[in-house]
Amino acid sequence: MARAREGRAGLPKIASMRSGRWVPLRAMSGQSVRTRFAPSPTGRLHMGNVRTALFNFLAARAGGGDFLIRSEDTDSSRSEERWLIEAMSELAWLGMDWDEGPDRGGARGPYRQSERAEIYARALDRLKSAGAAYPCFRTEEELADHRRAQIAAGRPPRYDREWARLDGDEVRRREAAGHAPVWRFSVPSGRTLAWQDLLRGPQQVSSDEIADFILVRSDGSPGFMFGNALDDALMGISHVLRGEDHTSNTPRQLMILEALGLEAPRYGHLSLVVSPEGQPLSKRAGSEGLADLRGEGYLASAVANYLARLGHGLDGDDPLDMRGLAAGFDVGRLSTSPARFDHEQLDHWQHKAVMAAQDSELAEWAGDGLAPVPASDRADFLELVRPNVQRPEELAFWARCLYGSDRIEPSAGNREVLEVAGPAFFSAAAAQAGGGLDAIATGVREATGAKGRALFLPLRVALTGQGDGPELRPMLALMPEAKVRERFERWSGAADDPGPANHRE
Ligand code: GLU
Repeated sequence: MARAREGRAGLPKIASMRSGRWVPLRAMSGQSVRTRFAPSPTGRLHMGNVRTALFNFLAARAGGGDFLIRSEDTDSSRSEERWLIEAMSELAWLGMDWDEGPDRGGARGPYRQSERAEIYARALDRLKSAGAAYPCFRTEEELADHRRAQIAAGRPPRYDREWARLDGDEVRRREAAGHAPVWRFSVPSGRTLAWQDLLRGPQQVSSDEIADFILVRSDGSPGFMFGNALDDALMGISHVLRGEDHTSNTPRQLMILEALGLEAPRYGHLSLVVSPEGQPLSKRAGSEGLADLRGEGYLASAVANYLARLGHGLDGDDPLDMRGLAAGFDVGRLSTSPARFDHEQLDHWQHKAVMAAQDSELAEWAGDGLAPVPASDRADFLELVRPNVQRPEELAFWARCLYGSDRIEPSAGNREVLEVAGPAFFSAAAAQAGGGLDAIATGVREATGAKGRALFLPLRVALTGQGDGPELRPMLALMPEAKVRERFERWSGAADDPGPANHRE
């Protein structure tokens, strides 16, 4: 697919080509790209949320622009500060940073919607004076009854402005009884609302299909549609990449901003990330979050490289740092089909991340697991085992295996390998224990005639208990000679081998 890599000087290399022409990812009035991640802190982020955050971050960085975090915490019954704190620490762990946000402020703050009440009140006043907002005193029960009546009459259930309007006496009666209204947007009739989706190209919808929606709840807090659109405009957001479940909100938000005379961002609606079984992920369905992946030993760079390619084309198969991921980010290569979260692919990136990690990173990752390895051997040990480890426990396993004092038991099916090789094989191997692989192999070959796999596999199993693992030659060079001898002697018939179950008292 062609891409607008060559974009005009000063413009980011990002573009969308769904509409048949390039739409450079740049702000409308020539200001730089500004994106945001706007979580509602009502639970843990799932991988779809994290990917959305990452794409917005990469879009900003690719365009040399700013990225900010805004907490959409107006639903006070469900929002909790701890979820916001967790979300920010997870994104930081992944390697993202932000220029403005609840934790660091910025020129367009506050960045928690719960602290922006005055801003919403002023904007609502402007909508009221423009005749674009009106109070609605109908209760939820009345609305539900009305919907049921419409269905019973064979009509599509719809919010009906004329029906909802109460006469002045009734309004006063409800006010006196302490009922506060919700404020609804008065959707103009007969309008065609058209916009360009950054991924999906031209979109349009008739305003007649949109019922008057809630701007402000009866407790005075802004509904999602209002707070989100207003804050994007006031915070100078140029582009919004968000889940396709928000597509139907876009025309509503465009109308709000138009009525306020504010510039709308450009919206791009991402395909959803689905579970391996194709089910939608959700914060509440207990889907894996970043903290889980981190706990399982995934490196941040593996997760970032995987997510940056989940539903997004990125050339090359080398792991990239955030700068590289940003340089390759291209809105024109975002896919509109569902993206399946696939652990095999994640493991592929984990392998690459382990191969590329600094020794110090791996040492931190392994924690105590590296303790059996003498300091002077650490660099060689890490080089040796890197290709064979995906998890810190595996690194710890090889550290114990090469240097630890535990007895090594052959893994399932491998005891037979040792029995077939037989005692003569291992006495010959033990006799050459200090000589490295060549001396050991020559000794065994001369004594038993074994060669190829029949020579090397039993050596490996006696040393490690495993049928595969790090390369034999450098592994033997690192292992203490006494340990090599002891492991061979155990199977030579010469050693005193009590076995694990009947050790002497
Ligand atoms: N708070 C909204 C959400 O978490 C943000 C949607 C948007 O990005 O516009 O879904």
